[in-house]
Amino acid sequence: MTAAGRDAVHRSAAARIAAALLALTAAPPASHAANKEDVARQVIATHGTYLDSAAPMPCGAGEPAEGALARVGELFAKVAAWPNFRAVYPMGTWAKDVAACRLPAAPDACAQLLAQAGVAFTTPAAVPGIEAPVELGATVGGVRFVSSAPLVMACDLALALARAAEVMAAAGVEKVGVLSLHRPGAAYTFHSLGLAMDVQWVKAKKWGAPVWLAGSFEQDPKERTCEYKPATPKGRFLMDVACALWGAKVFTTVITPNYNKAHANHFHFDLRTGDNRFYLR
Ligand SMILES: [Zn+2]
Repeated sequence: MTAAGRDAVHRSAAARIAAALLALTAAPPASHAANKEDVARQVIATHGTYLDSAAPMPCGAGEPAEGALARVGELFAKVAAWPNFRAVYPMGTWAKDVAACRLPAAPDACAQLLAQAGVAFTTPAAVPGIEAPVELGATVGGVRFVSSAPLVMACDLALALARAAEVMAAAGVEKVGVLSLHRPGAAYTFHSLGLAMDVQWVKAKKWGAPVWLAGSFEQDPKERTCEYKPATPKGRFLMDVACALWGAKVFTTVITPNYNKAHANHFHFDLRTGDNRFYLR
């Protein structure tokens, strides 16, 4: 495909997205708690919706695979009317990165890529909210993901975890304490789509016990994230892990306890396939 042809495809994808945005903005879901809806309305009034700000496309360094842009359109249609929560906090770091942006893989292609990456997984029957669900074995790339719930997620997030495991292993990480993955039906969060993971502790080879974010993550009084140098070794280790993942653009969103009180005890990582707007706070 020529560059002009690719631009035309992106423009047509953008038009479909805009139409989906209009439709969804006109008919917000009615089932959420009133309080959350009030907050959502306030955020939308001030900061717009998920797709209101700078355009998330184009995405990816090469030509899009067959059907990839249609899959992006389907995903964007689900999230278009969500409040633009990440814009609420002024100290967030945004980076537009077309080359690092990941397009959603077709289920078969994704499973092949996971297998090629040496990741052990099974394919569960349909999981509500998740396109192409997979269940990972506990160990990915030598890093053990410890979770009380099965490691069920979207295949695209599983691919990201395979890359994350490489980055974390290079930082000395042996085990990761997973607080939350899929939250079926949760409002306005990539957790509902199986595309987000919360981490409450990380264990490195050099320490005998896990390093919990609650108690060890150091917040900068000036609210910087990766520019801040924590004073304690454990604080530095936690910041280094988050910032290595941010630097490698493994996830679209890297949220630390700097983000808000609701994230005081964990990292939130999510993958927003088709979105070139990376975010750190
Ligand atoms: Zn989360």
